[in-house]
Amino acid sequence: MAPANIEQLRSRFRGEIIQPGDAAYDSARKVYNGMIDKRPAVIAQCVDVADVMAAVDYGRENQMLTAIRGGGHNGGGLGVCDDGLVIDLSKMKGVRVDPVAKTIHVGAGCVWGDVDHAAHAFGMATPSGFISTTGVAGLTLGGGIGHLTRGCGLTIDNLLSADVVLADGSFVTASEKENADLFWALRGGGGNFGVVTSFTFRLHPVKMVYAGPTFWDLKDTEQVMKAYRDFILKAPENINGFFAFLTIPPAPMFPAELHLKKVCGIMWCCTGPADAAEKATKPMRSVGTPILDAVGEVPFPVVQSLFDALYPSGLQWYWRADFVNELSDKAIALHAEHGAALPTMHSTMHLYPIDGQAHRVGKGDTAFSYRDANWAEVIVGVDPDPANNDKITQWCKDYFDALHPHSAGGAYVNFMMEEGQERVQASFRDNYARLATVKKKYDPSNFFRVNQNIRPA
Ligand SMILES: Cc1cc2nc3c(=O)[nH]c(=O)nc-3n(C[C@H](O)[C@H](O)[C@H](O)COP(=O)(O)OP(=O)(O)OC[C@H]3O[C@@H](n4cnc5c(N)ncnc54)[C@H](O)[C@@H]3O)c2cc1C
Repeated sequence: MAPANIEQLRSRFRGEIIQPGDAAYDSARKVYNGMIDKRPAVIAQCVDVADVMAAVDYGRENQMLTAIRGGGHNGGGLGVCDDGLVIDLSKMKGVRVDPVAKTIHVGAGCVWGDVDHAAHAFGMATPSGFISTTGVAGLTLGGGIGHLTRGCGLTIDNLLSADVVLADGSFVTASEKENADLFWALRGGGGNFGVVTSFTFRLHPVKMVYAGPTFWDLKDTEQVMKAYRDFILKAPENINGFFAFLTIPPAPMFPAELHLKKVCGIMWCCTGPADAAEKATKPMRSVGTPILDAVGEVPFPVVQSLFDALYPSGLQWYWRADFVNELSDKAIALHAEHGAALPTMHSTMHLYPIDGQAHRVGKGDTAFSYRDANWAEVIVGVDPDPANNDKITQWCKDYFDALHPHSAGGAYVNFMMEEGQERVQASFRDNYARLATVKKKYDPSNFFRVNQNIRPA
């Protein structure tokens, strides 16, 4: 589709407007997942809220399919679309820490590394994910599961307010006090309700953490997973550790004899005094015979960026996910079977604990419904070479199909690809009807529909 009335947008816009044929087009349309290859008609790289308002008006008045791009990390490529308009926020950086109020104000184009860097200088952090290159916006709006979940809650549990441009081009602030229905929906409901232009989060005193991996040989998987299941849900909330199947990368930080070995392991990130964390994790780190136990005190931003080099932008990614209440012996046996079959070095399965502080919030208190689930499971087939796409996809689907009957039913929306309405509804569960009502109020024409879509009631 040829972009309509583009001058209408240019006359109100300060950032760059990029179209097919422009030198910047191919790099501007690229997202993190190399499997996604979409060709928008217009990419509006906003530099301020006024630009976002102009872009929303332009998209609406010209009836364009409109995607919102934060960090561009979405597995299904929901930050970009074919033929339509991309409202690209990646230039809207800017972070301000208020050390007295212990809050941080973050532009919607920031990635988590920007936030970690700024907050760390003040000895603080806010809960995010497990990698520093993910967008603040998309991760937050889906919920936000990360290293600090057990101790500090989901990212949305620390969101104090958000500035939003609505589908009609108007600007509002959403918080517990203002537009509380919108604020409820933004906390887990994804990019359905408007373009968030900035976020304010609560900060926690987190500077150094006791972190790193413990790895075991795959022959010990069932023993380790059973011990982990019993250990982590009873561990103090400052103890965070997710279970993983992975291939040890050939990086100098790992002993050469372990390079490219498939293992199971726990990636720790514990807050509080290091000696107490060392003691609290010892029983789990002493199960069987770990082949590597490299846990120690490190600055929090170091842990957050440990995976950055391993997972640069542009790899091929295929995602499947579920929430999990219980890890039965049968499910563990299936994990052992499929985990041992990791198809490529980058492919992995992670089980993130989402109990502790995340369970203190009721399932109707925010849009994120699975407050009773104990883990978020994500299976990702990943490889640099598109020739391996069938292999990574098939492994991922087979693993998911085997474990899905043992899951809680729905999945964390940020770990899903485009999987259909039934799956979206299963993931919002009882909150779906209320979300649809809020959607009707703020976006009755479903203008924002390039997302895990909630249809207006
Ligand atoms: C390598 C990797 C690691 C990850 N690790 C974690 C993790 O540890 N924890 C976790 O919770 N998730 C994690 N995720 C998933 C991540 O949360 C989602 O991919 C999320 O969608 C990324 O947000 P983004 O802003 O980068 O994405 P984008 O692709 O830019 O956007 C994704 C979605 O968010 C919406 N959106 C983006 N910005 C805005 C905005 N300003 N206003 C309204 N809607 C907006 C878009 O409509 C789109 O639907 C990871 C993803 C990757 C690829």
